[in-house]
Amino acid sequence: MRNKVILVVVDGLGWQAGHDGMGYLQGLCEAGLASLHQLRCELPSLSRPLYECILTGTPPIASGVVHNDVVRLSTQQSIFNLARAAGLRTAAAAYHWISELYNRAPYDAVRDRLTDDESLPIQHGLFYHLDHYPDDHLYIDGELLRRRHDPDFLLIHPMGVDDAGHRFGGDSMEYRNAARYHDKLLSQYLPQWLAEDYQVLVTSDHGMNADHSHGGVLPEERLVPLYLLGSRFCHDSTARVRQVELCGLMANLLGIAHSKPDNHAVLRQPD
Ligand SMILES: [Zn+2]
Repeated sequence: MRNKVILVVVDGLGWQAGHDGMGYLQGLCEAGLASLHQLRCELPSLSRPLYECILTGTPPIASGVVHNDVVRLSTQQSIFNLARAAGLRTAAAAYHWISELYNRAPYDAVRDRLTDDESLPIQHGLFYHLDHYPDDHLYIDGELLRRRHDPDFLLIHPMGVDDAGHRFGGDSMEYRNAARYHDKLLSQYLPQWLAEDYQVLVTSDHGMNADHSHGGVLPEERLVPLYLLGSRFCHDSTARVRQVELCGLMANLLGIAHSKPDNHAVLRQPD
């Protein structure tokens, strides 16, 4: 079975804010149309190492991307590589580190910010490089890519929650309101995506501590939400999902054979 997949990585969204502040997503869960799992991120709880983890299924210690200043292409097989090898279309509206991991490193804004190159792992990209790039613009970028290129796999990666956390701390009104704002943004797009039978994963790389940072093992740094939305998911599963399983799970949804860590327990069994 082959489905299209949208992965939304809300950067820096910890479990508590993602659980308490997202009433639209929680409403979908109550209606049996979505499910929420708690994910414990791999270590260190930093962005670039965990982008690599989510998108390749390889934890930081094994990938070698162990801090944010590792500026080089990934050496792992990513979901973008798997999709391209299967002849599928790929797109991303994402922070420029994603372009550096899978397309070209280092990032050259003039060359890479707007990417349309069928030969690259991420064929269609709208990349940004300022942490305060507006989230509503980023969702528009993602939706534009979806409508224009009809990708089989689309990554949408906004930075506003992480940015609010670094400025005001994880235990702040501003941080929690940034999470609530994402719930509203998602409510503008998700009904259409679900109506078109996309399988959608909404998660985060890591959380945020009260010291305006992340990187360690505190629950507020490490625990993040994973919302699963779409017809392929079994929404009453209580199975534990690991961050390293997301790449394999998405490959399954895309109908791609792979050797990644995987999780079948959250998928609906065929009738
Ligand atoms: Zn951060």
